[in-house]
Amino acid sequence: MAQTQLQRAGDGEITDAIERVAERENRDPEFVREQVAEGQAVIPANHNHESLDPTIIGREFATKVNANIGNSEESSDLGTELEKLKTAVHYGADTVMDLSTGSDLDRIRSTHIAHSAVPIGTVPIYEAITHVDEPADLTPDLLLDVIEKQAEQGVDYMTVHAGVRKEHLPLTDGRKTGIVSRGGSILAQWIEAHDAENPLYTHFEEICEIFAEHDVTFSLGDGLRPGSLADASDEAQFAELDTLGELTRTAWDHGVQVMVEGPGHVPMDEIADNVRRQQEVCGGAPFYVLGPLVTDVAPGYDHITSAIGATEAARAGAAMLCYVTPKEHLGLPDKEDVRDGLAAYRIAAHAADVANGLPGARDWDDAVSEARYEFDWREQFDLALDPQRAKTYHDQTLPGDNYKEARFCSMCGVEFCSMRIDQDARTGGGEMETLESGTDLADSEAAEVNQPPVGTHDTSGVPDEIEIDGVTFTPECHADD
Ligand code: SF4
Repeated sequence: MAQTQLQRAGDGEITDAIERVAERENRDPEFVREQVAEGQAVIPANHNHESLDPTIIGREFATKVNANIGNSEESSDLGTELEKLKTAVHYGADTVMDLSTGSDLDRIRSTHIAHSAVPIGTVPIYEAITHVDEPADLTPDLLLDVIEKQAEQGVDYMTVHAGVRKEHLPLTDGRKTGIVSRGGSILAQWIEAHDAENPLYTHFEEICEIFAEHDVTFSLGDGLRPGSLADASDEAQFAELDTLGELTRTAWDHGVQVMVEGPGHVPMDEIADNVRRQQEVCGGAPFYVLGPLVTDVAPGYDHITSAIGATEAARAGAAMLCYVTPKEHLGLPDKEDVRDGLAAYRIAAHAADVANGLPGARDWDDAVSEARYEFDWREQFDLALDPQRAKTYHDQTLPGDNYKEARFCSMCGVEFCSMRIDQDARTGGGEMETLESGTDLADSEAAEVNQPPVGTHDTSGVPDEIEIDGVTFTPECHADD
C-alpha cells in the first residue's frame, strides 16, 4: 500500500515530492526530509492528484499563502470557479481551498483538482450539510462517506473541526460574537441537538485511516476561533487548541500529516503569543492562520486589517496564511477581490520572510529598488509583485513611451524628483559617490515564492476552454487591467 509522505520520510526516504520542494525552496533534500519526518512541515499531496506540483508548508520554509474560492447558493458556476482558480494561481496562491457550498459540488471539485498544480483543500462538512435538511440530521456515516469520497477524488488537505468538544461549548457563552466558524457552528448545533460528543472527534481515528490511505493532510480546524477582538485568546479558543494538540499526535501515530488552523480576530499584541502557544501545544505542527484581523472597524478593507496580523503571525512562526479579501464579512469575492486579497497576502508573506532572514528573500526587494533608482521603468514593472497594476497606475498620468525613459514620474514631478536630484548631486563632481547596483536574481538563493514573477506556478494547467457535458466554459485570467 502506498504510504504517506510522513511515513516515507520517517523511513529515511527522499521522495520525488521532497526532491521537488527542495528544488523550489533551494534547500537540502535531507533537511526537507527531516522536517517532514518530524511533523514540522507538510507536503499535501494526495496520491490521486496527478497534476500537482508539490509545495511544502512549514515554519523553516518560505511562508505560503492560501486562497479560498468556491461558489455559494447565491452565485457562481463552473466557468466562474475555474476563472477564480486561474486568477488565484496567477496571482500567487500556493494552495487553493474550494469552499463551495452551492450546487454542482462534485463537478467543481473534480475539475479544480484535474487542473490545479497547487494543492487543493476542502471543508467536507460543507458538502455533508447539503445532503441533509438541518445540522442535527448529519450522521457519522454521512460525514465519513463524504470525507472518503473527497479523498478518492484527490483532495490534498481537509479542514476537520474535530477539536470542537461538547465540554467547550459553554465556554463560548458571554462572547461578543459566539461561534463564527461555519464548521464550528454546525457542529455546535449538532452537539446541542443530540447532547452528544462531536462525531468528528469520536470518529477521528477512522478519518485518520482514510487520510493515511490517500495521503490527505489534516488541517485541524479552529471551530471556536474568535470572531472579534473581544473574544480573542479566551478559554474556549485555548481549550479547543489543547484538543487539537491531542489530535495532532493521534494523526501522527497513524502516519498522517497535520497542520493546525488558527484565529481569526486577534489584537496585534497577542498574535506572537498565540503562535508560540500553538507551536508548543501542537508539537511544532505547521500553523495555518486566517489573517488574523487586528481590528474590527474596517469592513471593506479586511484584506488590509488581516494582512497586518498575518505579517505578525508569520514573523512569529506561522507557516501558511489564509488570505482575506476586501469582501470579508460582506459578500462572496469576485476575481478582483481574489487579486487584491492575494496581493495583500503575498506582501505579508514576503515581508515576514525578509524580516525572518530567509536566505535570499531580500534580493527581490533590492532588484526592484535598483530599477527604481535607475529609472528603469520597464524593469520595475516586470519585477513588481503585480506588474500589470504597477504599469497601469504609472501610465494613467504618463502614458507615452517616452516616459519609460523619464527621470521622474507624476508623483513629485520633474522639478522635485528627489531621486533625479540625488543622482545629479552624485555625478556633479562633489564628494558623494554614485551608488552600486547589480543584484542578480538568477543567482538568488531565495525560494521560488520570494522571486518574481509572483505566481509560483504557471497557469497553463488551467485550460482556456473546457467542455463538460456539452457545455463550454471559458475561464479567463484577468491579468491585464
Ligand atoms: S518623481 Fe518622486 S515618486 Fe516619481 S520617481 Fe521621482 S522621487 Fe520617485
